[in-house]
Amino acid sequence: MRTVFLLVLLLFLVSADSVVVPVYRMCPLCQGKGHTTCVCCGGSGKIKVHESFAGGNKICRVDKCPRCDGTGTLYKCFYCGGSGKIKVDSLVVRE
Ligand SMILES: [Zn+2]
Ligand SMILES: [Zn+2]
Repeated sequence: MRTVFLLVLLLFLVSADSVVVPVYRMCPLCQGKGHTTCVCCGGSGKIKVHESFAGGNKICRVDKCPRCDGTGTLYKCFYCGGSGKIKVDSLVVRE
């Protein structure tokens, strides 16, 4: 019976003159930028292409990253949906 009483008291305290404040944290995946860095080129937009030719000759040239089209960023962050922040908690503040 004591537990039920405490629960009712808690509900009363929460509902009376209180506002729910969402708590946001910087998105750990995109560091708050809202988009993710291209994993293919590491954000530089360029990749090294190794080419081998007949006769054993090899060259290494820098080319535009085909995955992000040279931008270095890749789509909006799926973790935060592009906002750069994620909701971690809701604080109930009494006024
Ligand atoms: Zn994010
Ligand atoms: Zn890329």
